[in-house]
Amino acid sequence: MSGAAGAGIRLVLLGAPGVGKGTQADMIAARLGLPHISTGELLRAAIREGSALGRRVKATVERGELVPDALIGEVIEERLSRKDAERGFVLDGFPRTVAQADLLDRFLAGRGQPLDRVILIEVPEPVIIERLAGRRSCGRCGATYHVSHNPPKVEGICDRCGAALQQRPDDAEAVIAERLRAYRDQTAPLVSRYRSAGRLVPIDGQGRPEEVLGRIAAAVPGLRA
Ligand code: AMP
Repeated sequence: MSGAAGAGIRLVLLGAPGVGKGTQADMIAARLGLPHISTGELLRAAIREGSALGRRVKATVERGELVPDALIGEVIEERLSRKDAERGFVLDGFPRTVAQADLLDRFLAGRGQPLDRVILIEVPEPVIIERLAGRRSCGRCGATYHVSHNPPKVEGICDRCGAALQQRPDDAEAVIAERLRAYRDQTAPLVSRYRSAGRLVPIDGQGRPEEVLGRIAAAVPGLRA
């Protein structure tokens, strides 16, 4: 595949909360001209809008627990069925359970389009906790920052859209522990599934975002600049 722009590729970014999936998914999606699909961001947008979906999931998301598979299944099927995802996509935060991975396999098998790669981003837990606790996000456009590693140009204000930055309710310290537990119990089993399927690409997620992207690009055909 030469000149990544225009190339179709179906990628999943897997890893605990705070490893940098959203940041990497954004950069990869921009490089490939494909949509970055984050189920967490879809749910936060629904919560912001106060839609029926948002009202159903708000308390669960704020406790750091996973929303039910059937519900997230509807959300993702609707999103993947849109025209912009026909050529490919970068999934971030989905699948998160074995049932969700089954759903994704069925959906893609129905289209004759298997997953290309599952990128597992790995970061030691103490680093994750420090990253999440310092994370700030834009309440309007969803852009993310870190108080010391990636501060906005003006404190508390989004560089991209000028709105106020906030701490996600689920980045509060007590909730971080619950999210890490949900990852260990419900999502980590997917690692061996995708490894056995020959799809897994483990990546060291420490360092600057550009360094991590360089490692991913070196390991995933179709992503080299
Ligand atoms: P994230 O932005 O990926 O960390 O997701 C934030 C929160 O949204 C999670 O802690 C869950 O409450 C919910 N969520 C996001 N994606 C999923 C998913 N695939 N399955 C269940 N819950 C999800």
